[in-house]
Amino acid sequence: MIEGLNFIDGQWVPSSSGEVFERRNPADHHDVIGVFPDSTEADVDAAVGALAKAAPQWAATPPERRAAILEGAAAHLEARAAELVAELVREEGKTRAEATMEVGRTPMNLRFYAGEALRTTGSTYPAPGEGLVITLREPVGIVGAITPWNFPLNIPSRKLGPALAAGNVVVFKPSELTPLMGQRLVEALLAGGLPAGAVALVQGSGRAGAAIAADERVDAVTFTGSTGVGRAIHAAVGPSRRSQLEMGGKNPVVVLDDADVDKAAALIVKGAFGLSGQACTGTSRVIAVDAVHDRLLDRVVELAGEITVGPGADPGVGMGALASAGQLAKFLEYVQIGRDEGAELVCGGTSLDSENGYFAVPTVFAGGSPDMRVVTEEVFGPLLVFLRAAGFDEAVALANDTEFGLSAGIVTNDVTRALAFAGRSESGLVKINQPTTGMSMNAPFGGYKASSTQTHKEQAGDSMMQFYQAEKTVYL
Ligand code: NAP
Repeated sequence: MIEGLNFIDGQWVPSSSGEVFERRNPADHHDVIGVFPDSTEADVDAAVGALAKAAPQWAATPPERRAAILEGAAAHLEARAAELVAELVREEGKTRAEATMEVGRTPMNLRFYAGEALRTTGSTYPAPGEGLVITLREPVGIVGAITPWNFPLNIPSRKLGPALAAGNVVVFKPSELTPLMGQRLVEALLAGGLPAGAVALVQGSGRAGAAIAADERVDAVTFTGSTGVGRAIHAAVGPSRRSQLEMGGKNPVVVLDDADVDKAAALIVKGAFGLSGQACTGTSRVIAVDAVHDRLLDRVVELAGEITVGPGADPGVGMGALASAGQLAKFLEYVQIGRDEGAELVCGGTSLDSENGYFAVPTVFAGGSPDMRVVTEEVFGPLLVFLRAAGFDEAVALANDTEFGLSAGIVTNDVTRALAFAGRSESGLVKINQPTTGMSMNAPFGGYKASSTQTHKEQAGDSMMQFYQAEKTVYL
């Protein structure tokens, strides 16, 4: 069993209150992974105070050195990949294949941001009579990173990587469901050569996250999680500091009359039940036109029934445990809501009768209508709802009929209608003949509407590094 610690002012320390929380394997309740500090406001205060002292030195560190440190952290993660895959499966519940993909992607992210450290530039402006006008890009100062459990290495690497590359110091609060992966990422950064003062790890519940957002010394907060918590953080950070929020989704796939039904069903099942339905970009609504609806539903139900549910560490398992008791309870609650609303439960709707873990069965409802809660609210579990559309225009309207706008897919062989859908979709990511999940690490990522703040994309692209950099205009 691991005895996790916070990392504050260059030291591995328990929480000042001595309080701890326990993390158990969601696929086996009897397996205690470790205990971790249940941090309070006092721990956040100490972490931010120490970072403030260290910030100038890290900001003055040459970009080449920052890049080399991120490269070193990437190499450390790669050297420990096999161990990390096993720990990730055990801590979060995902399958070995899913964990292998995440552990592989994280060092690639850090290398990408190492490149960004070297790419920082400014501009010059013609100003006749006023000399030379130039812009400088500077670190913003202290960045708070608050992250969820569903990609507990990959998502934090997309926040700590660019923040450190730009010369900021970072206070990092991982999800309380995946504290070990948070600790492993900080260990990797330190192993790569990051000065101890440049990063703080504060484990614990939302209380620690709220303290980070409320702390006026934290210049920018980057958050990934639910829309409700994101809105609370946005309110706490206010207009004079920065916040970047990546939040929930209710992602549709539209299937048109010319679609290859087998292909459509395969990508829908992958998007809906991959990561046990716990991906922000996961498919949760299918909008099928009449001509293909019934055949598609049959094929999706057939494929969903072929998925082996069980511990993610077991070979042949296609869907691992849900991450927590709360996740399973929420899934079962929405199954009941769907039934009560009059949607037709076509398959699943149950948990596996297991003494050990939080296992849900892939679930499909048909007969969804736009006002149902199973159609409008994010479940974040393996629950898919079919809606019927008369044709293309109605399908597009139904796809957009949501407060969210993260990822949206269309399946068709008609390039004109595919591109028309891309243009009309109120979604930050549009997938044509691809699952709503999955993304390229060197492309911008972010949603529309209640799925994201709109000012800075995450992951890549022009606005990505700008979140972590202040721009100053200098007259010479
Ligand atoms: P969550 O409950 O919103 O928690 C996210 C993080 O915020 C956790 O570290 C959490 O701590 C912390 N937190 C909770 N309350 C807080 C508060 N009042 N102030 C500051 N921080 C607070 O989300 P989750 O259950 O971890 O993750 C699932 C959600 O994330 C889904 O809605 C999913 O769509 C979204 N997500 C979005 C993206 C994207 O890129 N758009 C990617 C992945 C996930 P605790 O863990 O201790 O509660």
